[in-house]
This record gives sequence, structure tokens and C-alpha cells, in this order.
Amino acid sequence: MKTINKIYINGEFITPHGTELFDLINPTNNTLIGKVTLADETDTRNAIAAAKQAFKSFSKTTVAERKEYLQRLYDATSKRKDEMVEIMVKEYGGTLQFCRMSTQNAINAFTRAIETLEVFDFERKVNESKVVLEPLGVVGIITPWNSSNSFIGSKLAMAIAAGCTTVIKPSEMSASQTEIFTQCLHEAGLPAGVINIVTGLGQVVGNEITVNPDIAKISFTGSTAVGKTIAKGAVDTMKRVTLELGGKSPNIILDDADFSKAIPMAVIAAFQNSGQACIVGSRLLVPEERLAEVKDLIKQIVSDNVKVNDPAKEDTTIGPMVSKKQYERVQSYIKLGIDEGAELLAGGEGHPGGLEAGNFVKATVFANVKQSMRIAQEEIFGPVLSILTYKNEEEAIEIANDTEYGLMAYVSSGDTERALRVARQIDAGRVAINGLKHDPLAPFGGFKQSGIGREYGVYGLEEYLEPKTLLQ
Ligand code: NAD
Repeated sequence: MKTINKIYINGEFITPHGTELFDLINPTNNTLIGKVTLADETDTRNAIAAAKQAFKSFSKTTVAERKEYLQRLYDATSKRKDEMVEIMVKEYGGTLQFCRMSTQNAINAFTRAIETLEVFDFERKVNESKVVLEPLGVVGIITPWNSSNSFIGSKLAMAIAAGCTTVIKPSEMSASQTEIFTQCLHEAGLPAGVINIVTGLGQVVGNEITVNPDIAKISFTGSTAVGKTIAKGAVDTMKRVTLELGGKSPNIILDDADFSKAIPMAVIAAFQNSGQACIVGSRLLVPEERLAEVKDLIKQIVSDNVKVNDPAKEDTTIGPMVSKKQYERVQSYIKLGIDEGAELLAGGEGHPGGLEAGNFVKATVFANVKQSMRIAQEEIFGPVLSILTYKNEEEAIEIANDTEYGLMAYVSSGDTERALRVARQIDAGRVAINGLKHDPLAPFGGFKQSGIGREYGVYGLEEYLEPKTLLQ
């Protein structure tokens, strides 16, 4: 069994000052696959000091130099894609299909940043003045376990594009995935101190990043509860924050949609990344008079197309939950749905047959869900879909917006103009029309309690820069 006992500071792999060990468990069978030595506050301060020192020269690099660094990061990470996918399946339990896409996103983040730099103006004329956009300083990057390297890649790429230096705290549950990714980043050969990676606990390493005065900005992806803790802590030193938080995304199927396409798409939207994604379409809104038809369709699709199984199998669509804790959390919501009086259409409590050793959950669908129920309001972060009905377009929009979240939404209609009209009235950072669309250069982020700020492309890059007006 392997113990990961290196963190990455100032261009070197070093033994952490922290000594606490954390177990790495394969969620498919709950066997121990390794241990990681967790970094502590001293390690975090050392990483921040290295990043602060490196910022002095890295902030002065030219765009051409940073494009070259980003290209090297792309090349180095590309080489080990297959290994990264393999360890992600093993340590996280994501399906092979998902882990391939997520890892490719981690790699592509570097070339997307190059594309962004190609169209970005760091100097702008505003009225009589010249405005220069300057790198903010040392950026703290704090990420969750549900697509670990992809979040690290997209945040790191933008920080480097801006000329910032970084201290990265991935989830402690992703230590094996982080290990390979860090080796790739090291191979790219950026100046020492530009990238520092300290795997440790949120309350220890994450807290030090939050309070340390030498961190200028935090880019965080994770739960709304932790996002609020970070934002509160960050304000004392007036850190900038970008927060990508939870979601309870609505998927509105309008009455003129092609249900034979929209409903299978809705099932994929709900169960993508085994339901452990902030953008899952977990609330399906359908016309009241079409409910019976939708229920029949969904039952059929779940039984024909959805396969909960070993994530390493090519045709698996839902893998295990990342941990026993997450399994229990999802179970408690399934029980709650039943207790609240929703109609269980598919799935239910307990493990699917034959998968008792891992953290597998049955693909679960509830019908006759009322907006007042907790399963319609709270982020479950597992494969649990709630079907709600609406009387007319206006009510569909009202229900869609009746949530504290606003990250993602989906709209299906036979009339694109109508779908766009509805999309414009939904409080969400992104609305996908007639499909599961993704644009890696367009802004991503949340309205309301789904977050603050945007990632990707020019909007994402601006989050790492501070405008300075030169009055002449
Ligand atoms: P989490 O909030 O528990 O943890 C996220 C990260 O924050 C981890 O690295 C954790 O160690 C760290 N952390 C925990 N406590 C901290 C503290 N007090 N100070 C600083 N850092 C701390 O989230 P999770 O369980 O790892 O991930 C699931 C959540 O992430 C879900 O709510 C999901 O919606 C959200 N998420 C959001 C997006 C998005 O882009 N909006 C994407 C993926 C996941």
C-alpha cells in the first residue's frame, strides 16, 4: 500500500511538516488504496511565502512568455492522460466516460487560457485615461473532490494567464489524482514558486489560505456552506473571491418539446457524474397534462439506459458515491422524499443488488414532488431526480426560480425563440437550450447563492486582474 508523503513547494517535492495521515479509500469496494500525509499551517505558510517571492518576477512576464508556459503545461499533462483517468476512476469512482471527459477538460484548460490571451487586452483606453489590468498577487485555489484535476486545471490556467502565482489546496480525498497532476505540472518547468500544492484539511490548510494576509484572492469551488465561511474569513484582509458553489438546477420541458429527445436528455442531465455535479438538472419541470406520459418514458429510460455498476466498465453510467458519508447523505434524502410523500418512480433506498460492497446508490426518481418539499429545495449531490409539474409557462418560470441557487438551467422547446424567451427569465448563470451544451470560453458561475464571480474565457481571466487607471 502506498503512502503519499510529498507536497510541492517552490518547485520541489518535499516532506510535509504536517504528520497526520488520511486514508484513501476506493469507493467501488471500500478497500484501502493508500494513505496521504496531510500538510499543516506551517506547510501552507511556506507555500504562500514561495508564491509571494515568485510573484515579484512572474507578475512581470510578458503575455508571450505566459503562453509558452501554458503550452508546456498542456504538453506535460497530455502525456499522462490515461494514467490520470485510471486513478480518477479508482480513487473517486467516477465512470470511465466521465473521468475521460473531466481529465481532458483539465488538460484543455491550458490551451483555452492561451486562446483567451489571444483576444485579451491588458491595456484599454477609457475616456481620457489608460486602464492597465495587473495581476492580483498570490491566488489561493481550493477545490472539491468531484472533478478534482479539472477544477485545479481551469483555475491554475487562468491564474498563470494573468501573471499570478498560486497555492493550491485540493480535496484530501483526491490525493492520488493530485499526485500525478502535480508531477506533470512540475515537468512543465515553470519558475519555482509559481505553482505550490498543499494537500490538507479544509479547516487547516484551507483556513490558513483564507486568513493569510499574503493571499490576494481565493478561487473556490465547493459547497455553499464552506463558500460562505471562506468569504467571511477573506473579508478581513479584503481578499477577492470567486466562489463556485452548489446548485438545484431546473430542467424545463415546454409542451412543444420533442419529448422523445428531451426526456432521455433530462435523465442524462440528472445523473451526469453519478449525480455528484453542481450542474445536475435535479428538478425536472413538465406540463401537468403530460405527467403520465413523462412517467412512462422515464421508467423506460431508467431501466433501459441507466446502468449503476463498476465505474471502470465502459457502459456504466452511474458509479459509486465518493464516500460512505456521501452514500449516507444520499440515502437520507431518498428516505426523506418517501417520508415527504413524493411518489417513488424508480430506485429507492439501499444498494442495488450485487453492489453492496461499494457506495452505490439506486438511480432514483420521484414524481409528484411539491416545491415545498426539501428534496425539491436542497442539493442532494447524488442520482436523485425530482419531477414537478406546472400549469403554464409563467408558472414553470416561477417554480424554476423558486430556489436559493442559480447555477445552471435547461430548457427544451420545439421553438428556439420561445426557449430563449424562457431562458432569459431564469435566474441562472448558464441556461442550456435543447441539449447538454458546454462552452469552455463563455462565462460559468452562479446567480444568488450559487456563487460570486465567473470562470472561463475573458470573464474568468478578469477575475485574476486588478484594473489600474493611469490619469495623464
Ligand atoms: P466542500 O465545500 O466540503 O469542500 C470543498 C473544498 O473546501 C475542499 O478542498 C475542502 O477541504 C475545503 N474546505 C472545507 N472546509 C473549509 C474551510 N473551513 N476553509 C477552507 N476550505 C475548506 O465541498 P465538497 O463536498 O468537496 O464538494 C461538493 C460541493 O461542491 C457541492 O456542494 C457542489 O455543488 C459544489 N460544487 C460546485 C461547483 C461549481 O462549479 N459551482 C462544482 C463542483 C462542486
